[in-house]
Amino acid sequence: SSADQSLADALLHGAEVPRRRALAKAITLLESTRPDHRVRGDALLNTLLPHSGRSFRLGISGVPGVGKSTFIEALGLHLIGLGHRVAVLAVDPSSTVSGGSILGDKTRMEQLSVHPQAYIRPSPSSGTLGGVAEKTRESMLLAEAAGHDIVIVETVGVGQSETAVSAMTDMFVLLQLPNAGDDLQAIKKGVMELADLVVINKADIDEHAATRARAQITSALRLLGMHGHPDHAHHDRQIWHPEVIQLSALKQQGLATFWDCVSRFRALQTANGQLAQRRQQQSLAWMWERIEAGLRARFKAHAAVQAQLPDSIEAVRDGRLAASVAARRLLDLLV
Ligand code: GDP
Repeated sequence: SSADQSLADALLHGAEVPRRRALAKAITLLESTRPDHRVRGDALLNTLLPHSGRSFRLGISGVPGVGKSTFIEALGLHLIGLGHRVAVLAVDPSSTVSGGSILGDKTRMEQLSVHPQAYIRPSPSSGTLGGVAEKTRESMLLAEAAGHDIVIVETVGVGQSETAVSAMTDMFVLLQLPNAGDDLQAIKKGVMELADLVVINKADIDEHAATRARAQITSALRLLGMHGHPDHAHHDRQIWHPEVIQLSALKQQGLATFWDCVSRFRALQTANGQLAQRRQQQSLAWMWERIEAGLRARFKAHAAVQAQLPDSIEAVRDGRLAASVAARRLLDLLV
């Protein structure tokens, strides 16, 4: 419609204030569950897609209290000082349970949230983690079209949501506290393997503990790296090796070092083609993920399936029908 066209125009070319308002409105449209909104949202997304992608996508994760909002506020202001426009989005797995969201809450980033060069959006709260991640991914494309050249996606440490965020970003950063038990948890959950960079925050509290933690995580990463890529065990300049740095978000110490690390990562991944490849793989993985979720939903909503399913379940449970046969028969009802 022409209203949606002017929404797209305002988002792409508007002055600061109408542009922000258009972005917020467009994201609200995408987050709506109304079928007619979905149709309009899809059209809007397609219109804006050619204008998306020109940003660096940074995933940031860590347990509650590690200092994510303090860090993102300080980093965001630092980046705006360098001339960037920053968007902060969130994937909050708890929002799917409680309906509310903590992450990305504007009150957590007081200065950044009111800054004209920043846009902060809390986590959507739509059912499953897959649903929340889908909305966040789409919001990211809109924020890029609206000219945000750094998109930060924040999440808390509960394993699955970290995987989801690393699957939608160019670089995944794990925030850690300067004590050893914490990194053992991250290693156990497989989160450490996702990290391109580990940041030990609150180094101001205990410099020695932070340095110790840094050494431990560095050697843990080296071991994980050897498992993942046996042929890269030797030093290879063409491939990024995860790094560990320490800083203080509260004292705003180490932000320049952090950004230098991110910039080196970005330059290397651009030069060796990994950045483009990662995005391609992410898009395709995303498409299949949504197809599978969609098929599952359609399968469960299908009238013939619904009629047959209770009998099939009983037959499989009683051992009268092989599980694979039951599955095949149910799937055949779809066509
Ligand atoms: P989040 O739950 O991960 O978003 O953590 P917050 O940013 O809310 O920080 C939790 C607490 O840690 C707050 O009281 C912060 O002031 C404090 N904090 C954050 N970063 C640092 C830091 O670098 N040093 C110190 N000493 N405290 C910090």
